[in-house]
Amino acid sequence: MTYFSPPDSVILPSAERLRLRRREIVGELALRGLITDEEPLCGVIDLDTVDELIDALKAAYPKSLPALHTVAAKAIALRPVLAHYAQAGLGCEVASPGELELALTAGFAPGQIIFDSPAKTRREIEMALRLGVSFNVDNFEELKRVDELIADIEGPTPHIGVRINPQTGAGTIDAMSTATETSKFGIGLRDHREDLIEAFAARPWLDQLHVHSGSQGLELEHTARGVRLILDLAEAIAQRVGNDQVRRIDVGGGLSVNFQSDEITPTFQDHRSALESVVPELFSGRFTLVTEFGRALTAKAGTLVTRVEYAKSTGGRPIAITHAGVQVATRTVFMPEDWPLRIEVFDAAGVPRIGETILQDIAGPACFSGDMLAVGRSLPTITSSDLIALPETGGYYFSSHFSYNALARPAVYAVSTDEAGQRRWSIARRAQTMEQVVAEAGEPDFAPLAT
Ligand SMILES: *Cc1c(COP(=O)(O)O)cnc(C)c1O
Repeated sequence: MTYFSPPDSVILPSAERLRLRRREIVGELALRGLITDEEPLCGVIDLDTVDELIDALKAAYPKSLPALHTVAAKAIALRPVLAHYAQAGLGCEVASPGELELALTAGFAPGQIIFDSPAKTRREIEMALRLGVSFNVDNFEELKRVDELIADIEGPTPHIGVRINPQTGAGTIDAMSTATETSKFGIGLRDHREDLIEAFAARPWLDQLHVHSGSQGLELEHTARGVRLILDLAEAIAQRVGNDQVRRIDVGGGLSVNFQSDEITPTFQDHRSALESVVPELFSGRFTLVTEFGRALTAKAGTLVTRVEYAKSTGGRPIAITHAGVQVATRTVFMPEDWPLRIEVFDAAGVPRIGETILQDIAGPACFSGDMLAVGRSLPTITSSDLIALPETGGYYFSSHFSYNALARPAVYAVSTDEAGQRRWSIARRAQTMEQVVAEAGEPDFAPLAT
C-alpha cells in the first residue's frame, strides 16, 4: 500500500552553511558594536535558516495531503518572528491566553491557530469558540464545559479535538515526556478507550484527535506509535458512529534537535518516513494532518552571543564569567546533563579562536554557584572581552526569559537576505531597559485593593 512518493528534494542548510552564517553573525555583532556594557548579551535569529526549515517541513509531506503545519509559540514567543511564520503560511500552536493573544496579534488567522492549554478557563473556551480557534480538550470535565458553552455559539464551530495520552512511556528526558502512564496531559487511552468512543459518539462536533508524546529525547518510532494508536481510535469511532467523524489528526511536535553539531538530524523527512511506515493511512487523504513543531523549526536558526566579562582561575580551574546564564539558558543550567549546549569562542573582533584547548568552566552572571553554562569543557583559552556563541539556542532559550536576579531580557536581532542578496539586520525585540525591570518588580507602593 503506497500513498506517497518521495517529494522533490529540499536542500536543508548544510552544517558548513550554518557554521559560516554563525561566524558571520558574531563578526557583524562585533563590527556593528552591538555588544556593549549596557547590552553584553543578545540573541540573533537567522530568518534564512528559519525559511529553509519551513520549506523542508512543507516539502516533507506530499502536496496533495491536506495539512496544517503550525509552529509552537512557546519555542519562539517573539512577535515579529511569529509574524514571519504567519506570512510563510504556517499556523500557530498556543498553550496559554498570552500565547493566544500573541498569535492573533502576530497575524495568524483564527482558523490557523490550535489552542492546547490543559487549564483552559470558561472564558478562554468561549473565546476560542467565538473566534473559530481550534482547540484540543484535555479531560472529561473540560468536555462537559464545552457542552455547556457550545450551545450558545451561533455559526460554525471550529475544529474541536481531544488530547489523547497514548500511555506509550517516556523518552530519554523524563520531564519532556507526556506519554507516560500518569502524565498530566490529555485523556489516558488505556484507561478510557471506551469512554472516549462514547464521548465522540455523543458529540458530532468532535472531529479531531491530538497526540503529542513529548519533546526532545523522543525516538521517531515512539512518536509514530502514539499516532498509530490515535488512528486506531479514529477507526473505532468511525465504526461506532457509522461515518468518518474524525477528520483531523494532530500529531503534535517533538522532533528532536541535534545539539552536538551543525548537522540537522533527524529531519522532517525522517519524521514523515516513520509515520508513513507505522501509520500509512495517515497519507490516504481521508484526514487533514496537523503538526505542531517547535524546537525543530527554531533551534538551529538562533544563537546567543555574550561577552566574557572576566577570565579567572580558581583551584587551578580557568573560569570565564559571561552574561549568559540561567536567565536565558534556564534548562541547561538546572539540568546540565539533559541540555548541554555547544560553546564557541571568538576574540573581541569576532574571529574564531583556534589552537590549543584547555579545560575551562563557563559561568553565567547570576548569584548562585550552579549558574554554569559548561563545566570542564575543552576549549581554546578564553580571555576577557572574548565573545562566546551558543549555537542551537533559537528554540526556547532567548524567547523564554527567566527573570531571576532581575537580569534584563536581552535584545534579539534578526538577519535575513534581501532581494539584492544583502544580509539585512533588524531588531526583533529590544533589550529590557532598567526602567522596565523596575516596573516589573511591582507597584511603587502597596496599592489599595478595590474590594
Ligand atoms: C511544546 C509543545 C509542542 C512543541 O514541542 P517541540 O518539542 O518544541 O516540537 C507541540 N505541541 C504541544 C502540545 C506542546 O506542548
